[in-house]
Amino acid sequence: MKRTGKCPKCGSGDIIADAKAIDRGHGNAMRDLSVATFRKPEALLFKQKSETTVSAWVCAECGYLEFYADHPADIKLPAPSTGRG
Ligand SMILES: [Zn+2]
Repeated sequence: MKRTGKCPKCGSGDIIADAKAIDRGHGNAMRDLSVATFRKPEALLFKQKSETTVSAWVCAECGYLEFYADHPADIKLPAPSTGRG
């Protein structure tokens, strides 16, 4: 949808690009919706969190939407190492 500029559901080309997904935190505070990965999810404190905001592509015709990470490389985890280390 981001690359084709077309809605995969209804075929419309009327796409609203790069809409910000809004998350509401404590006290109804607005912030950009984000996704995160953790390099050490088992750790109690220092999970080594990586995070990126997400943007939405919305079909103006049928309302279908897709989310895209703004910086997907930022949350990519290294390949699991072989052996113990
Ligand atoms: Zn559509």
